[in-house]
Amino acid sequence: MGAFVKIVIASICVGYVAVKWNRPSFDPESLRGARVLVTGASSGIGEQMAYHYARFGAQIVITARREKVLQQVTEKCLSLGAQKGLFISGDMSTESDPDKVVDFALEKLGGLDYLVLNHIGVTRFAMWDGDVDHVKWLMKPNFFSYIQMAWRALPSLEKSKGSMVIVSSMAGKLSNPFTAPYCSTKSALNGFFGALSHELAMKKSNVSTSLITLGLIDTESALNAVRGIITTPAYPATEAALNIIVTGATRQLELYYPWYTYVMNFFKDWYPPLTNHLIQNALNYDP
Ligand code: NAP
Repeated sequence: MGAFVKIVIASICVGYVAVKWNRPSFDPESLRGARVLVTGASSGIGEQMAYHYARFGAQIVITARREKVLQQVTEKCLSLGAQKGLFISGDMSTESDPDKVVDFALEKLGGLDYLVLNHIGVTRFAMWDGDVDHVKWLMKPNFFSYIQMAWRALPSLEKSKGSMVIVSSMAGKLSNPFTAPYCSTKSALNGFFGALSHELAMKKSNVSTSLITLGLIDTESALNAVRGIITTPAYPATEAALNIIVTGATRQLELYYPWYTYVMNFFKDWYPPLTNHLIQNALNYDP
């Protein structure tokens, strides 16, 4: 291995350790009684976040579309130790439900300490087929509802010195084939909440924002989508969920999970032909 490569690898390791080392320490007690709204909590990472918040003794409102599943998740949250557990069904692709859900949480919990935006609308993992209407539609649940809910919850978060947690993806930082509509929505989220985070800081707002960059996580929907096409290892949803919660609770600006997303983001603009080659060849595709 050449000296240059060794230096680069060593620099990344030092950078990564420095970021980890500087992380503020997490006090689980800070979440006892915290008032939390988690979206997309009927399955996957959102469901796992609801269980972690419950174990920490938080007061939780969860939402998604499927009422029956939400009821089961809420019951489990209560059995795990949630101080309060409530659910409200809502479709985040509609105009009215994002506000309705936030208003429900504000009323039932008497305000919010954490707004955790995590849901996504259903999309195909496939080459884009020219369906512009689908891209327009996907922007509603994956982007417009996020900014609508953030704005609605902001006054309460301001009062409580609260936090917004935005679950995004490596696809928002680095475009990937088979995910053009999804990548667009996640890039939009990164752009919007990056700007909002600056504005809040400049206004000396009490509200922190945490933008979450995830790689492949072993949720049922993700594994079903990529089966046979991607062989990258999927990381556990429960661990991803805990890392997201800690990032929000410690008011950090960003989380990269798992570790390789940090490295990919670091390198992505260094030599685009190599990055593109690696991305395209990581997929099992035979035209
Ligand atoms: P998931 O298991 O598919 O969960 C999606 C959640 O969104 C479900 O609770 C679903 O519940 C809800 N939902 C779907 N359509 C909705 C709508 N129109 N209105 C309201 N809720 C809706 O997803 P996940 O894999 O846990 O992903 C969670 C987050 O992590 C997403 O933001 C995703 O982009 C991000 N992420 C995941 C991965 C991964 O590999 N898993 C990688 C990078 C980033 P209902 O069907 O009951 O509505």
